[in-house]
Amino acid sequence: MNQQPRMVVPVLCYHSIGDERRDGTLRWSVSPGDFDEQLALLRERRRTPMTVSGYADVLRGLAPLPPRPVLVTFDDGFPDLAEAALPVLRRYGLTATAYVIAARVGVAPSPDGDPSLDWDQLRELRGYGVEIGSHSRSHRALDCIRRAELQQEITGSRRVLEDGLGTRVTSFAYPYGYHSPAVRTAVRAAGYSSACGVKNALSHPEDDVFAIARVLIERDTGVDGIAALLDGTGRPLAWRGEHLRTRGWRAYRRARHLVHAARPRQGQPAS
Ligand SMILES: [Zn+2]
Repeated sequence: MNQQPRMVVPVLCYHSIGDERRDGTLRWSVSPGDFDEQLALLRERRRTPMTVSGYADVLRGLAPLPPRPVLVTFDDGFPDLAEAALPVLRRYGLTATAYVIAARVGVAPSPDGDPSLDWDQLRELRGYGVEIGSHSRSHRALDCIRRAELQQEITGSRRVLEDGLGTRVTSFAYPYGYHSPAVRTAVRAAGYSSACGVKNALSHPEDDVFAIARVLIERDTGVDGIAALLDGTGRPLAWRGEHLRTRGWRAYRRARHLVHAARPRQGQPAS
């Protein structure tokens, strides 16, 4: 009865904060009103916000875990992060980590593409205390590409972001959450000290610092869904390694990639 529950660390993974379709769908766009309500809940519950690098120090045993930890992360670097999300983060005194696609920063989108943050917006986010991490150079599935391309995506993106921001970039998030032993080794060799996957599971102090588990927040997750995650009931605890079906899915994607030699687009999960 009195067993201490294992400490859970919800790492929330948002994409767009707005009512625009991104990647052709509204599924990953959380409305600004809902986002406000969700962050108000974090405040109300007196959660301690951490950046991913701060949490990585905990996973390495270099820092203690604060009480009631929570992490807010954003993938893909949409401009609404500065326009809509930042004022809400400020209002509730919360920090976050933003993973941006290096080659898209400040570049005008193609006619059917999505817009990106520009360098001034990234600096504004950073000035407030949002950690900026790399979400690769061009958002490809890294476990399906050649070694030289992998270097560009992992090391090249870091260089672009560090040059543009004038600061060190030490955290990485795998596009689509896809990674393999070779990808994780390349991320470590490039000098990153942490990396986020997805897993749709709750992180905990024994989690893998190069595959930190996150939960995708969808348009209909709602404040009740966030409350369940804070209670540690909305998702399972992260497990070590990969499920067999994850390996099978990678084998299928690799085979398809060899046949089509095209970057995956349709049917990809977010992140
Ligand atoms: Zn992404």
